[in-house]
Amino acid sequence: MTNGPILRVAINAPLSRLFDYLAPVSGQALPGCRIRVPFGRQTQIGMIMEVAAQSELPAEKLKRARALVDERPLLSDNDLWLIQFTSDYYHHPIGEVVASALPAALRQGKPRDTIIQKIGLTPHGAETDLDALCKRARRQGELLGIVRDAESISFTELDEAMPGWRRLRAGMIEKSLIEEFEVIDDSLSKGLANIEQETGPRLNSDQDTVLKSIREKSGFSSTLIDGVTGSGKTEVYLHLIQDELAAGRQVLVLVPEIGLTPQLVSRFRRRLGLEPEILHSGLSDTARLSAWRAARSGSAQLIVGTRSAIFVPLKNPGLIIVDEEHDSSLKQQEGLRYSARDLAVVRAKKLDIPVILGSATPSLDSLQRCHDGAYTYLQLPRRAGKAVPPLMRLVDLTRHDAYEGLSQPVIDAVEKTIAQDGQVLIFLNRRGFAPTLICTGCGNVAECARCDSRMTVHAGSNLLKCHHCGAQRGIDTECLECGSTCRPLGHGTERLEDALRSRFPGEVITRIDSDSTRLKGTMTRALAMATSGETRILVGTQMLSKGHHFPNLTLVVVINADQGLFSTDFRGGERLAQSLIQVGGRAGREERQGEVIIQTAFPGHPFWTELFSGGYARVAGSALAERQNAVWPPFSRLALLRASAVKREDAHRFLERARIMAEAADIDGVRILGPVSAPMERKAGRYRAQLLLQSRQRGCLHQMLDSLRISLEGSQEARKVRWSVDVDPIELF
Ligand code: ADP
Ligand code: ZN
Ligand code: ZN
Repeated sequence: MTNGPILRVAINAPLSRLFDYLAPVSGQALPGCRIRVPFGRQTQIGMIMEVAAQSELPAEKLKRARALVDERPLLSDNDLWLIQFTSDYYHHPIGEVVASALPAALRQGKPRDTIIQKIGLTPHGAETDLDALCKRARRQGELLGIVRDAESISFTELDEAMPGWRRLRAGMIEKSLIEEFEVIDDSLSKGLANIEQETGPRLNSDQDTVLKSIREKSGFSSTLIDGVTGSGKTEVYLHLIQDELAAGRQVLVLVPEIGLTPQLVSRFRRRLGLEPEILHSGLSDTARLSAWRAARSGSAQLIVGTRSAIFVPLKNPGLIIVDEEHDSSLKQQEGLRYSARDLAVVRAKKLDIPVILGSATPSLDSLQRCHDGAYTYLQLPRRAGKAVPPLMRLVDLTRHDAYEGLSQPVIDAVEKTIAQDGQVLIFLNRRGFAPTLICTGCGNVAECARCDSRMTVHAGSNLLKCHHCGAQRGIDTECLECGSTCRPLGHGTERLEDALRSRFPGEVITRIDSDSTRLKGTMTRALAMATSGETRILVGTQMLSKGHHFPNLTLVVVINADQGLFSTDFRGGERLAQSLIQVGGRAGREERQGEVIIQTAFPGHPFWTELFSGGYARVAGSALAERQNAVWPPFSRLALLRASAVKREDAHRFLERARIMAEAADIDGVRILGPVSAPMERKAGRYRAQLLLQSRQRGCLHQMLDSLRISLEGSQEARKVRWSVDVDPIELF
């Protein structure tokens, strides 16, 4: 035992615990300040999570922290609370959670605030006879004159007003004519820009009811708005945001990766008359730091970001909105596997503010929480304005010939739409030319050398690419086994684009997928062309399916939905329905009615009956009933322990060991399934396996994970594998 004060510091390392240090020689070390500490042979920047009176460790084991990075806390108690919660709930090393929560520049020790260097007037400078000084030293007199007029002025302003002034600085400070000082820049707000504010449509009665019901609440509440695409959810958000801004509070809006479109941002800008701060993974370090600082200082009123924005500090938070709450990109799938949606609810509760979740296809988890009474359920069942819902129909692929994947009824519908000046969106969630390269002689298929997967043919770059590990090589002209010719089998977006070009020559056709939009600016341009109606046929992957509003679009074609029908994942049906409704929701968003055509080789599948008779609600209802019977989430909790290793045995041995430890922990009510190999066992040269833990009670599961994590961190078997814990996994591999 050693008496303190003892700093309990989170360090960016894969270890769960905090590290104790003696306070540095100077400065006041407070929770939320970054600090430089000796760690191993290096110095690291850590975050002070707590200041304790005592350490368990003997004095000779304790090292002294070197120096504070922040004189005053960078993170508030609420921010630290969220980090601690995230670390506990996801069983992830606390230092790594801190690292996820901070922009790179701050992890590396950049200052908390932007500092402005300024020159001010001293009492002596104020009394000095300016004319006399000008005669003695003209330039000094000139500078003093400027400083007197301004009282204080920044270095950059002086650079403009009087180039060369810096040479006079030291001399004049020496004579106490002027002084130098620093201030924190709090004028970061982009909101000051003079943006003309547009007024929106008058809310319809459904929207009014939803808005009223949310406004009636005070303090924490969580509300799910289940509103069909185009029902005016965003309009409701805009009113709620305006309320908060008028009250001087900040609003955080979370959107999925591909939901953060220029269209959405410009709508916020025009309607609210301010420039929202944007936070997403594509930003430069500088831009991210500046948005983060503006949110923290309170100068940013509205912050719109993708999942990691859930950690951004807010000086005066009033509301959190999670749009498209069902979207899987709100859950991080590597490293710290957190759900930004779930953390949004937790954070709002801690801050005692409302959180709004919105979707046209709510997740079953959120729907069940509404049934349980934890969330308030509100509905917008109709499209706003004049738009009517699109008509949906199936085309039976077994009864119609297809030309390059396009059935005759689809070709007819595309022709008719174009003749009527409409726009068509053709959706295929598979990029590249063809998913398979097959030998015409022996049937051999080109496979990735490092994964258990096939290589995708990319015609544009003339390469075979593995979509799982990124490996690529030239396209085999003849079979490596028998020497016969190879040919591409199946369809990807590239091939579909070619087919459409030869079937509809002269029409403007644009493909949008992650290959076609790799170059900066191409996505913006493609979207602008689609929005203006110049593009007649759009072909693309799920990048096209969400958030966009193409006024002219009347026909949506889904080329192949069948993969989703036979998914082994218990979320397969939910996902398929969501993706069909979302992409279908792009059709007919203005005056003209839209049409959605789905091609399937299994028109008799019960999924279609449900979808066509009762829409998403019916699919969701029966999926929930199935899950209740099978005790799958949301009726139970899952955690997945994943391991990968160069040798298959190492991954399995590690998980066997984990299983033994889990059983030994003797916690009732947790089922342990596995270990089993992952469905795609080998990826990027590593064998992957997993152990599934399931429980009806969250408490038991977490108790088990706590004990497991600690035992595994020190175990012999852990050295040969990479392993991770995924709490509430959304994909079971
Ligand atoms: P969602 O977010 O549910 O998809 P939006 O808020 O984007 O819906 O609204 C869809 C379209 O309907 C937009 O063009 C919007 O301007 C329009 N709209 C929304 N509410 C109304 C309303 N009350 N009256 C007329 N048009 C509306
Ligand atoms: Zn062959
Ligand atoms: Zn691969």
